[in-house]
Amino acid sequence: MKGRFAPSPTGIMHLGNVMCALLSWLSAKSKGGTWVLRIEDLDPDRSRRQFADRLMRDLEWLGLKWDEGPYFQSERHERYAVALERLCKMDLVYPCFCTRADIMATQAPHESDGRIVYAGTCRARTYNKEDMERAALRLKVPDREIAFTDGHYGPQRLNLSRHCGDFVIRRKDGAWAYQLAVVVDDAEMGITEVVRGSDLLLSSPQQIYLAELLGYPLPSFIHLPLLCNAQGQRLSKRDKSLDMEALRANFTAEEIIGRLAFLTGLKPDNAPCTAEQLLPLFSWDKLPPERQIGL
Ligand SMILES: [Zn+2]
Repeated sequence: MKGRFAPSPTGIMHLGNVMCALLSWLSAKSKGGTWVLRIEDLDPDRSRRQFADRLMRDLEWLGLKWDEGPYFQSERHERYAVALERLCKMDLVYPCFCTRADIMATQAPHESDGRIVYAGTCRARTYNKEDMERAALRLKVPDREIAFTDGHYGPQRLNLSRHCGDFVIRRKDGAWAYQLAVVVDDAEMGITEVVRGSDLLLSSPQQIYLAELLGYPLPSFIHLPLLCNAQGQRLSKRDKSLDMEALRANFTAEEIIGRLAFLTGLKPDNAPCTAEQLLPLFSWDKLPPERQIGL
């Protein structure tokens, strides 16, 4: 059994990131498994090495030691290129020259959650090899439902052509899209359990589809409720009072772990404890069923 924590080094970790790290660590360790640390630094504009160093120091301070890694996605380009080549050979990839304005012009106004469904505008265009190098690359998706069972939220099904349409697997600037990188990495690192925030629940079918195409075994998925601030908004890097900088200044590691154990239902009280001490108490069944956990 192998789990992983895969943060993006675009800022200092906040309490929500720590909750995700803690629960994936507990799940792996309580089953005698391996916990992998992978730094998802594919976005060159937003990723910073200093944040990667900082989050590793914070994980160590919290007592969440990884067994394998850190792997850096920015050092794994060739692996993603091999996967892309395989998808191209299946005739499933094409260049897209649409601007954001082009895509917005094709959107039906009913998409209330703000997601964008690509209408397949460039699918039928003819293109040459050079076009593949200078445009965003999209993966053709089928008009069928993809079903899976989430370890926390239960059965899910989604039709990719209606949910997102053909999606980008390499950006116009050459940066690999999250969806492709995460699938290649989870497979190559032998990850069997993916634990992460419920904001990524609906991206799982894209990854399942990609994994199927590439012939990879599927990990199990467990999505977590998101921690929310006093205003009911999910925590973000803007909530400075709940980032590791502020938390370390005001609390011990045991106080932070104890508080998270209470919020996630692992313990009936807030009493300080170590991650290690939570191992015998850990069970996914204790996690609240809601999509959000208020602080
Ligand atoms: Zn297009």
